[in-house]
Amino acid sequence: MGGSEQKFVNQAFETNWIAPLGPNVNGFENDIESYVGADKHHVAALSSGTASIHIALELLGVSKGDEVLCQSFTFSASANPILYLGATPVFIDSEKDTWNMSPELLEIAIKDRLEKNIKPKAIVAVHLYGMPYKAKEINEIARKYDIPVVEDSAEALGSTYFNQSCGTLSDIGIFSFNGNKIITTSGGGALVTTDVKLKEKAVFLSTQARDDAPHYEHSNVGYNYRMSNVLAGIGRGQMEVLDDRVAARRSVYNFYKENLSKFNSISFLEEPEGCFSNRWITCIKTKSFEQREQIRLALLKEDIESRPLWKPMHMQPVFKESLSFTNGTSEHLFDVGLCLPSGSNLSQNDLNRILNVITNIPKL
Ligand SMILES: *Cc1c(COP(=O)(O)O)cnc(C)c1O
Repeated sequence: MGGSEQKFVNQAFETNWIAPLGPNVNGFENDIESYVGADKHHVAALSSGTASIHIALELLGVSKGDEVLCQSFTFSASANPILYLGATPVFIDSEKDTWNMSPELLEIAIKDRLEKNIKPKAIVAVHLYGMPYKAKEINEIARKYDIPVVEDSAEALGSTYFNQSCGTLSDIGIFSFNGNKIITTSGGGALVTTDVKLKEKAVFLSTQARDDAPHYEHSNVGYNYRMSNVLAGIGRGQMEVLDDRVAARRSVYNFYKENLSKFNSISFLEEPEGCFSNRWITCIKTKSFEQREQIRLALLKEDIESRPLWKPMHMQPVFKESLSFTNGTSEHLFDVGLCLPSGSNLSQNDLNRILNVITNIPKL
């Protein structure tokens, strides 16, 4: 926590706004709006990033039987809402510069589906680990075939692409404020759009879709997805320290990069032109699966947790029936990649301890 979260939470208690609405919800939305790009964007604070993707897909008209093109190299929450809506995911592999959705494969997939007389209803692209995806190329293809893009920015609050905030690069963006993200409300999310009507519809759907009447009248299926005013208070405090958190994560990345680059077997994901990553997690690529395991197990022996990169969705048992367009990139990353400890609160001592363990591995 940064310091003023408690003040906003106390305000919620003192004013008795213990509900999924109230001054902190509006205040948090305004804070995010000004952070991501002034007056152009409208934000709806929701209960999670997953809920935000669910609502975003519904707003784009995704329903039973539709196909949605989704980045394969991601966390399962990017894809699960496609199934909540009764639609079918089609997975797209990554390119090597950002580890995110390959524009080339995206177009191949779209052409393939169109040939079979299926028009994909939406694209879910992800700024994984905070690194912006190739939005120019993806948007160009999306426009060419007239398919809307949901921008999964759950890991990329504070990242920018040619000076524009991640979350605002497509038709609808989403953020997550889960406990593991760069800032947190303990659990929470947000939907971002330039269309105020879409924001209003998102709020309507996420508060049980109640029509305008003195009694409870419903002509739509609603959800209970709005953010609580108590948690939004945490969010308002966290927004004050977001830039500090980004700076801290980037300095963790720089520490690892400066000290581990001398090993030929370890490489880092650089920022391509125009990309500014919040460096939510520092990931390394090693030479082989065996070497990745050697580093992971050496750290584990010292009680330091590290993790393999996300296992691609097209390799997951739950999605084994799904169609995918692959090129080997994400499978290779899953094999040889490792997430290093990257918390904003790591001390210099912690970092030195981690570095020591890695540098003492023989024949690295
Ligand atoms: C965390 C995460 C989500 C889901 O957000 P929640 O707030 O945990 O529901 C979605 N996509 C990605 C890439 C994430 O990392």
